[in-house]
Amino acid sequence: MPRLYGFDDQSRQRLRDDEVDPLRQMVSRALVDASMSNQGIAVWANGAGYRGTLGGEWKDASIGRLFRNPAIAGLRYEDGELVDAGHPGIITREEFEALQAREQSRKTADADPPYDYLLTDGACTCGKCTKWLQGARSNAGTPGYRCRPKDKQGRGGCGEVRIDAELLENHVGEYVVAELLKPGIRDQILEARAAVREQVNHLNREVEDLVARRTEAGALYGQRQISSDSFVAADREITTTLKSARSRLRYAEQMANFSLGNAKDLVRWWNTAPTASKKAIAMLLLERVEVFPASARGVRTVEPGRVVLHWRKLSTLSGG
Ligand SMILES: [Zn+2]
Repeated sequence: MPRLYGFDDQSRQRLRDDEVDPLRQMVSRALVDASMSNQGIAVWANGAGYRGTLGGEWKDASIGRLFRNPAIAGLRYEDGELVDAGHPGIITREEFEALQAREQSRKTADADPPYDYLLTDGACTCGKCTKWLQGARSNAGTPGYRCRPKDKQGRGGCGEVRIDAELLENHVGEYVVAELLKPGIRDQILEARAAVREQVNHLNREVEDLVARRTEAGALYGQRQISSDSFVAADREITTTLKSARSRLRYAEQMANFSLGNAKDLVRWWNTAPTASKKAIAMLLLERVEVFPASARGVRTVEPGRVVLHWRKLSTLSGG
């Protein structure tokens, strides 16, 4: 079996650096522009000089197969549910789910188009239980964020917070733009970006160390130098740490690559920028966004105290 695009090896423990960015760009193009076909993405990728794992040109079908493979998000299907596959992913779960929704909507023309969430990956958390809010549509199909209720294995949060995606994102957007309008903020952003680049290097090393530690534990177990119990415990601990290091790394990478360019009218910039760029600046400025339950069902405004913005101290970021 040929290896999967974006991964270096069959066990998918290592990403292939020169394929990670092209794949993210393909996915971004698919999600940003609802009219973009897989054929269109293949034409773009070939034009940009990217080739498949066997050196062939991209085609409609090979893009489709790649986008349907949950491994690109570090996931696999178990009884029809997406679960962690125990290896790194190149895109987020939300992006993968949006790709599947896109596929569905291309099959059934009247279905909802995919939604590109701004505040996933830990950018917003549940004010009641501190878990990450995740992108999820309401029963009516409206994009929203929710605290995922606990599943059978006990993973998940309280399930009590839900908020309309547009309502929350517009609210956060207003504050972020106001922050960007403050004098001196561009210089601070440049400095902070340099600091984040350092963090990226550091996190890369951390991830490498963890992968090496996991391999080492496997080898010790293979030589019967440690018991199966201690191997399982070590493996579980390393996997958890690895997961969090990788998500911090993905965060930092996005922040480090952010550029405001020469944008003069920041309100306009915000309203027209791709979600990935808005996400990067929002994450650079904000540590996280905390969302509390509404006072009642169906409240269509952000009530005072419902959304708490935790600003990052840019100066401490650049100070190390
Ligand atoms: Zn919760």
